[in-house]
Amino acid sequence: MAVSHLAKTINESPTLRLSEQARILRAKGEPVIHFGIGEPKNKTPISARLRATARLNAGDIKYTPTDGMPSLKKAIIHYTENNYNRLVALENIIVSTGAKQAIYNILFTVVNPQEEVIILAPHWVSYPEMIKMVSGVPVVVAPEDGTFHPNLRDIEQVVSSATRAIILNSPNNPSGVLYSEDFIAEIVEYCERKGIYLICDDIYQKLTFDGKISVPAYKYTTEDIESSHLIIVNGVSKMYGMTGFRIGWVVGPRELVKVMTNIQAQMTSNPPVISQVAAEGALMGDQNVVENLRLTIQNNRDVMLKELCGLNGVQVTKPDGTFYCFPYFRSFRMASTELAKFLLEKALVVTVPGSEFGMEGYLRLSYAGSVKDIKDGIKRLKWALDPESADEIYIGNRKLTRDWI
Ligand code: PMP
Repeated sequence: MAVSHLAKTINESPTLRLSEQARILRAKGEPVIHFGIGEPKNKTPISARLRATARLNAGDIKYTPTDGMPSLKKAIIHYTENNYNRLVALENIIVSTGAKQAIYNILFTVVNPQEEVIILAPHWVSYPEMIKMVSGVPVVVAPEDGTFHPNLRDIEQVVSSATRAIILNSPNNPSGVLYSEDFIAEIVEYCERKGIYLICDDIYQKLTFDGKISVPAYKYTTEDIESSHLIIVNGVSKMYGMTGFRIGWVVGPRELVKVMTNIQAQMTSNPPVISQVAAEGALMGDQNVVENLRLTIQNNRDVMLKELCGLNGVQVTKPDGTFYCFPYFRSFRMASTELAKFLLEKALVVTVPGSEFGMEGYLRLSYAGSVKDIKDGIKRLKWALDPESADEIYIGNRKLTRDWI
């Protein structure tokens, strides 16, 4: 089949591929534990369900304005005021089909072919592919000090006249770290001065732990929204666990939002109206649901860290937020893709290889699932990898014997 040169360069999403593999194994009755996906187990908030069902029952399911229903945009204005301390206008917002489409719209709007977008390793798997999809060039900057914290000096070294944008994601998928306030202040000042767009992917903004908070980049700009180079991405997927509704948004200068609206109009038009109504319900409803989810995930993180402590040869940085940790499997001299494959085959545990996030030797483990799965899953990793653990383990009603170490 003749496939375009550009399409050939786009890799499959490893997390979606692993989810599909896990689904197939489960359908065959295999007791797979899924540490692969960032999706909490909570039910959709009641306020979202009530609004969506009322709309469905009214049978009024039509197109909306391409950039989203004004009532949802008003709810996003309210959210932005509360969480970013910024009053923005309806024209500064475009609602899209997930934060994924929101990021794609931004890249399509600001990147010319062969222009560069800087991403900071470890980085979300989709950024490089999305940049390539708009014919841009991803430039990955990895911290050299063995931490997950970027610094401006390393970034400055790769900035050139071709640099169009930098993507920040804090709290970070996959490491779970929150970037320091000093770093945020520095990079905002740098981008505003240099005229480089700073795309802040704040999708995990509300899921932070131990009293730490994600500092909004807006705090450090002196520019007003129309002249600022800050572009904010957010959505309902993570903070309300509403992944299936596919609602994300951008807050940015109206000149850019207008172009993003043209792009979206030619690509998908408006996001589904039922999803928009549900997102509005969630944003305007009881916000204790976010706090409850945050507390559940924080507890899961604690369980995951405690269990990982018992696994010899593994180092882990305590996550400040998100659903993920990114342990370093330093003693196991295997490429992360091989290690993940080995763990799936031998222990029926899905993990995501660090190489997909721009860092070899690590695996991303999601703790969005149940406490039981976290405990059982790490027990299985221990059995598979640690020669000091028992040789035998029960998985479901099967007794497995380790015969490789
Ligand atoms: N950004 C990051 C860092 C993510 O982890 C994800 C989802 N895994 C997204 C964006 C996309 O979110 P959505 O489901 O709203 O498309």
